[in-house]
Amino acid sequence: MGSRMYDAIVVGARISGAAVAFLLARRGHRVLLLDRATFPSPTASATNLIHPPGVARLREWGVLERLAETRVPRITRYGLQSGPVRLEAPLPEVNGVSYALSPPRTALDHALVRCAADAGAQVREEASVQELLRDADGTVVGVRGVSKSAGAFTEKAAVVIGADGKNSKTAQLVGAATYRAEPVLSKSYWTYWEGLPQESVVRTYRAPGIHPFTWPTHDGLTIVGVAWPSATFPAAAAGDDIDRLVIDAFAEVDPGLAARLAGTARAGRWLTGAVPNFLRRPHGPGWALVGDAGATRDPITASGITHALLSAELLADAVDAGLTGDVPLPQALAAYGRRRDDLVRDHYDYTRDYARIAAHSAEERALIEAMSRSPHHARAMVGVFATAVPPADFYTRAGFRELFDYLNDAAGLPLGIRALRLLLHGAPEPLAAAPRALADRLIAARLGPMGRLLLRSARPARTPRTEGNHR
Ligand SMILES: Cc1cc2nc3c(=O)[nH]c(=O)nc-3n(C[C@H](O)[C@H](O)[C@H](O)COP(=O)(O)OP(=O)(O)OC[C@H]3O[C@@H](n4cnc5c(N)ncnc54)[C@H](O)[C@@H]3O)c2cc1C
Repeated sequence: MGSRMYDAIVVGARISGAAVAFLLARRGHRVLLLDRATFPSPTASATNLIHPPGVARLREWGVLERLAETRVPRITRYGLQSGPVRLEAPLPEVNGVSYALSPPRTALDHALVRCAADAGAQVREEASVQELLRDADGTVVGVRGVSKSAGAFTEKAAVVIGADGKNSKTAQLVGAATYRAEPVLSKSYWTYWEGLPQESVVRTYRAPGIHPFTWPTHDGLTIVGVAWPSATFPAAAAGDDIDRLVIDAFAEVDPGLAARLAGTARAGRWLTGAVPNFLRRPHGPGWALVGDAGATRDPITASGITHALLSAELLADAVDAGLTGDVPLPQALAAYGRRRDDLVRDHYDYTRDYARIAAHSAEERALIEAMSRSPHHARAMVGVFATAVPPADFYTRAGFRELFDYLNDAAGLPLGIRALRLLLHGAPEPLAAAPRALADRLIAARLGPMGRLLLRSARPARTPRTEGNHR
C-alpha cells in the first residue's frame, strides 16, 4: 500500500468510529475507516438500548432508515423501582425524539458502516492497526498495520482517531492517561426472552444486592437480566441454574413478571458482561479517542452507545474546524476534550454510583417516592438515567425544595427528611449559614449519591478544569 495522505484515519468501525467517519466524510474530508472485523458481525456480548439523544442522532443521520427492515418497537417510558416505590414516567423529548430503541447491534453497526461508506469514507475491513507513525516532534501522523487481503500497510493522515473500544490499541500506543477510574462494579446475566407482552417500557429495579432489568428489543423479543455487585455475583454453572437465579431475583421485585418468565421461554443462551470504569484523556498531538476507547462505564445505565454517538459528533465538529483551518488542530482537539468531559462526566459519576447497587436509605426512598408523585420530577429523573437531562440540572436545591411538596406525610417520613424539609423549605432564602451547614451535613450523611450530586450543585462551577489536562 502506498502512503496516500488522508485527512483522518479512524481505527475501529462500530458505533463511535463509523459515526465520526460518516460525519467527516459527509463534510468532504478524506477518511479511512479501518476495522479488524468484517461487517455485518456481532459485537462481544452487549445489550443494545439507545436513549433518546442517541436515537435523535441516528434519525438525523439517516441511520434509522436503514434499520427499517428490523422490527424494533419504540420505547416511550422508563421505570425505576426501588423496593416498593415505583417510579415510571415518559421519556423527555430530545431534538423531537421522545423514545428509545433497542435494535440488534449487528444491524445497527452495519447500518452505520454503510452510511460512512456512502458518505465517501474508505472502509477497510480485516485491517488491524498495530503501530502509530510519528513525526520528529512526536505528533502522530499515521498508522501501520496488517490487512488480511493486502498484508502490511502504512497510511498517513492529519489526525488518527482511536475508536477501537475499551481495550483501545490506539490509547495504549499514545499512553493516554486514565482518570476517575474504578474497577468492575457490577456484573450481569442477561438474555433474550420470547412470549412476553411487548410493553414499551424499560423497567429497572433496585432491591438489596440485585438490579433486575427488562425491555423490549427486536422481533418480539424482550431483554431480561439481573446485575449484581461484582463481589456477590453468583457464578452459576448451567443455563437452568441461571434461569432460577434470575426468576428468583424478579420474584423479589415484580412477582407478576417473575410468574410470566416462569411460564414463557428464553430465546437464547445466557450472556454475561462486565466492564471497568474509566475516562481517558481523549486527545493529544495528532490523535483523539472517541467512544469506549475514551470513556468506558458500567453498562447498568445503558449509556455507552448514546454517549459514543454524541462524542463522535463533538469530535467530528472539532476535527472539521481543525482541518478547515478555522481553529488550529491542537486547539480544536483540546476543545473536543473539554466538551467530551462536560458531556459524559456527571452521568459517568451517576453510573458508577448506580453500579454499586447499594440499598437506598429510608430518606432516599422517601424522595424517590415523592418523585413518583410529581410528574415533572419523575420525568426529569427518568431523563437523567436516559442521558436526556444533565444530572446538574436535576440535582438542584430549588428542584428538591419543590420536591418536598410531594412527600407523603401519611406514610410516616424518616426523621432525616423531616429535618431537611424544615431546614431547606422552612428557612427563608438565602439560608442562614447555620441551618445551611446542618442541612449539608444531613444531605451528605443520609442521601447517598443523590446527596453528593445535590451538594455539588450548590458549589460554583469548577474553572479552570485541570482534570484530563485539556489545554
Ligand atoms: C454487557 C454490556 C452491555 C451493554 N449494554 C449497552 C446498552 O444497552 N446500551 C448502550 O448504550 N451501551 C451498552 N453497552 C456499551 C456499548 O457496548 C459500548 O459503549 C459501545 O459498543 C462502544 O462503541 P465503540 O464504537 O466505541 O466501541 P466498540 O463497539 O467496542 O468497537 C470497537 C471496534 O474497534 C475494532 N478494533 C479494536 N482494535 C482494533 C485495531 N487494533 N485495529 C482495527 N480495529 C480495531 C474492533 O474490532 C471493534 O469493531 C454495553 C456493554 C456491555 C459490556
